[in-house]
Amino acid sequence: MKRTPWISLTVIVILMSTCGCGQILDSGPPVSSMPIKSQSEQSALPGSLQTGPNALSLNNVQNAPASGKELSGKTTTASEPPREPATLADPNPNGAAATSKTAYLTFDDGPSENTEPIIDILRRFNVKATFFVIGDPSQKGRMLYRKIAENGHVIGNHTYTHDYSVVYKSVAGFKRDVEKLDELLEQSTGRRPEILRFPGGSNNRQARKYGGARIMSDVIAAMGKDHVSYFDWNVSSTDAALSVQKREEIVEAVRQGALGKPNIIVLFHDMDKKNTTVEALPEIIQNLKEQGYRFDVLSKDSVAIRFSQL
Ligand SMILES: [Zn+2]
Repeated sequence: MKRTPWISLTVIVILMSTCGCGQILDSGPPVSSMPIKSQSEQSALPGSLQTGPNALSLNNVQNAPASGKELSGKTTTASEPPREPATLADPNPNGAAATSKTAYLTFDDGPSENTEPIIDILRRFNVKATFFVIGDPSQKGRMLYRKIAENGHVIGNHTYTHDYSVVYKSVAGFKRDVEKLDELLEQSTGRRPEILRFPGGSNNRQARKYGGARIMSDVIAAMGKDHVSYFDWNVSSTDAALSVQKREEIVEAVRQGALGKPNIIVLFHDMDKKNTTVEALPEIIQNLKEQGYRFDVLSKDSVAIRFSQL
């Protein structure tokens, strides 16, 4: 498969998580002007994972639960030498040395009733995070976008509708949906996002049902042409494995999933039903600090942890 230049090297590591953003949610009928969160992203199978543009990729990894045991070491298969992870040179708004381990906490599918509680906890621990939001044009939705931004967190685009039948029907449909959310966010916060997370992750299989076998590679290429950086994850909190996952399971999944990894992008969900995610957050932050992580927000220049394409 032809790869875009910004998805370059293939090194190896791990994969752990189930691909879980947003499933098991409100399954009401699609409403064109509102986000749709009913698709199952759980079945998306991250067979492998890359951390590019600067490099790492997980090959032949099964849909294993989050665990610290999957680390298989680096195996460079590309001809180019791996470059240094970009994040190591990034300024660090959350303290600690530039060479320390970095954790990027990410919250998908908001805003929701839990957005403010999440922000409150992050403020208490002086941690900045990244919110991959969907479209909510209500007054409250716009207020929450602003609140996320005003508290120093980064907003990424997770598509307006989050409806696979819309966003993965065609490249043009995907771009329209992304643009619609970009505009809403610009109206609400004054800024357009520079980063994106694909609903279901970049190698989800369900997209094929709507847009054919090449739809994911085609939308990825289109986003690359538009200079949009996208991010998957290498630690799943498993908070989407059940409608309401146990708090203890979420804490343990992140603790285990982080073991042995220098940079982690942790997948959480900011949704009405995910109260246990909020309840787990303080202990997770504490655990990660004890493991030596500093916290940072994603930007288009961050090391991009990405699944390899199926
Ligand atoms: Zn999602």
